[in-house]
Amino acid sequence: MWLDLYLGMAVVLSVECKPLNKGTHNKLLVISFDGFRWDYDQDVDTPHMDKLVVDGVKAKYITPPAITMTSPSHFTTITGRWIEDHGVVHNMMFNSTTHQKVVHKATLKRSEWWDNGALPLWITAQNQGLKTGSFFFPGGAANYSGQSVNRAVVEETGQQDDNETEWQQNIDTVLSWFTEEDFDFVTLYYGEPDNVGHAKGPDHPDRKTIIKQIDRTIGYLREAIQRDGLTDNLNIIITSDHGMTTVKKRPLVDEIILSKYLNFFNLVYFELLDYGGFGMITPKKGKEQQVYDALMKAPNLTVYKKEDMPENFHLSKNDRIQPIIVIADLGFNLNSRFIVYVNKGDHGFHMDEMDMKTIFRAFGPDFKNSYLSEPFDSVHIYPLMCKLLQIDPAPNNGSLSITEGMLVQNGGRRNQMSLGVLASIFVYILFVM
Ligand SMILES: [Zn+2]
Repeated sequence: MWLDLYLGMAVVLSVECKPLNKGTHNKLLVISFDGFRWDYDQDVDTPHMDKLVVDGVKAKYITPPAITMTSPSHFTTITGRWIEDHGVVHNMMFNSTTHQKVVHKATLKRSEWWDNGALPLWITAQNQGLKTGSFFFPGGAANYSGQSVNRAVVEETGQQDDNETEWQQNIDTVLSWFTEEDFDFVTLYYGEPDNVGHAKGPDHPDRKTIIKQIDRTIGYLREAIQRDGLTDNLNIIITSDHGMTTVKKRPLVDEIILSKYLNFFNLVYFELLDYGGFGMITPKKGKEQQVYDALMKAPNLTVYKKEDMPENFHLSKNDRIQPIIVIADLGFNLNSRFIVYVNKGDHGFHMDEMDMKTIFRAFGPDFKNSYLSEPFDSVHIYPLMCKLLQIDPAPNNGSLSITEGMLVQNGGRRNQMSLGVLASIFVYILFVM
């Protein structure tokens, strides 16, 4: 089924961004700070991120795909495919027939969850002769059609997510992959500010503290790039997977307790609920309409039948999408049965809510300086990465025309410099000879 879907889609997918001068690309490092809401740097002193606005590219914000969760969104970034096409439809791996549910961290090495026909950029680049690596990045440790990423480091359980020294060591490690082992493309992932956002809420002082730490880490990255002599041949993209919003709790609001409206025992066969603002339900056979009608009575909730999902969600053409999809209003958690919900912040809400928007920054030899990009969908990062690495993209849903304005034209800043040198020689000839 996955292969059919893949081949069927390939006909209408964009395959632009043909490389111009193959083999002369700069290297590329993509860094994701999980759950970095688009405006997190606006109420904190972030000198390094501010400097990046001058020294590189900033998008006002970017929009994640419709399931604003870590695994689905990261996999859209690395494949350039909508979620219905790449098939990673939740943070948890699940099987609605066997009722098996696998938690996020345990999915990271489970290839059957990631390998659905859409090749991530690591593999596509390797197939074209490039060397690629992944450090903690979701999806990086799986096999795709039997191929694995050249080097993939997976997060060990119990590791401190906010240890600044480790953050710097991770930068040193991936930069050494470039300098000592000639890697071309590496992705690096950090679990913050998502963890603090969940535990304390986006407005808590601890969120500001972690943003300052991220800013210092970006400063460290820039020093390390210079130290390692990579300034002229390493491009950097800094992005994230979704934003974060404050969870609305009693007594301010009534929580959505779905069991008040829906008889789970009689009507529901399988559910993925109690996981932020997004949920999926498989009704028992013949009970689809009853489940839909019951849920329609719940407040602060939008209910969709899979076949009626709005086109812009790109969330229906996949067997893993369950028949009923529910999305809570911003800040309301989908509480199935009076579960005590400890998170103070969460995501999984509608991708067009501003609190779900996230960041895009870039700098390096192929990026313009002081370039402010209009907002765009994160699916368009993929063709940009292909262009930077000068490889032929796999079929994808992105468009280079959205992002190519941020690139220095004619193959990079160094070429601009050589034009400058040529101009000086010309002036010299004109006046001296
Ligand atoms: Zn999260």
